[in-house]
Amino acid sequence: MKKKHSIQAARLEQDVYELCQPGGRMVGTAGHRAAQAWVARRLEEIGCEPYRDDSFALRYEEYGTNFTNFAGVIPGADRTLPPVLIGAHYDSVIPHPCADDNGSAVAISLGVGEAIAKSGGLERDLIVAIFDAEEPPYFQSSAMGSNRFYEDQVDERGIHFALISDLVGHDVTIPDHYLGGLVSKLASSLAPLTFATGAESHPDLPGLLEEIESPSGMKLIATLNRYVGDMSDHGVFRRNGVPYLFLSCGRWEHYHRETDTPDRLNYQKMAAIAEYAEKVCRSAAHASLVETTIEAKSVEFEARTWKDALGLLHKPFAMACGVPDFKSRSHIDRAAQVLTSML
Ligand SMILES: [Zn+2]
Repeated sequence: MKKKHSIQAARLEQDVYELCQPGGRMVGTAGHRAAQAWVARRLEEIGCEPYRDDSFALRYEEYGTNFTNFAGVIPGADRTLPPVLIGAHYDSVIPHPCADDNGSAVAISLGVGEAIAKSGGLERDLIVAIFDAEEPPYFQSSAMGSNRFYEDQVDERGIHFALISDLVGHDVTIPDHYLGGLVSKLASSLAPLTFATGAESHPDLPGLLEEIESPSGMKLIATLNRYVGDMSDHGVFRRNGVPYLFLSCGRWEHYHRETDTPDRLNYQKMAAIAEYAEKVCRSAAHASLVETTIEAKSVEFEARTWKDALGLLHKPFAMACGVPDFKSRSHIDRAAQVLTSML
């Protein structure tokens, strides 16, 4: 297990260093063009075919500006079924490396694609989608890459399930003043925390996710998307009723700063997140996830992730959040609010 992580971690590290150059990847810059060439090459190398026509590049124009999404596909057993999608944005918010945001998630998406290609594919196609223009000033505008992809570029099969990630390269740290004394000594055990939203997007997802253990090196905490909002490319899938999971380690001190550099990422944690994401894609590909009006009940699944992820810190952390435990919707509500304010 450890060895597999190390090989995967080294590959992820190499991808982040190659993609996250000092000049960044802001739309319209030379760095953006260099990133595009790199993404197209990596999609080919990991074994993807173009999702549409004969190019990985899916161009579009908004506000007189040219943008480019990228989408490759790992063919699955039944190509008539709606595909699973794994995706992340490749643009940067400032002309700096922006490694965690979002080189980390691009590397993980490519890594999952490669692992699935090597194993012979899923029961249905897997789309590896690398989106343009997630960052301001395009965030949640009609130029945002994931919005244009879903609305104009998805083929007639639609999307079965989408796994989106953003800010998935760093350890979670919680400032000392939140957790005095003994607890702050244990705070390093919170480093592997990884947050998930979207279990509530389909009634079959909580059960499906319950079956998937967090690999060593990451600890999953599930909450409702409404606590964090549509902070990344999963928004368009959620709004259109596509079952999805959004993974993130949350904001950190280097968020949207020059100091978000490749040397600060934890590649072992990224390898664990990639392993988890691969399992989720496999399981979602197998599930029917039929359209339904039944509301998903994710609270029990969420409660279990809080308990498992926090381990010995479960009780003291609950106290720090002002709740007795993480067993009910209102307690998780409160804890998620407090946790969000800590990050
Ligand atoms: Zn960002």
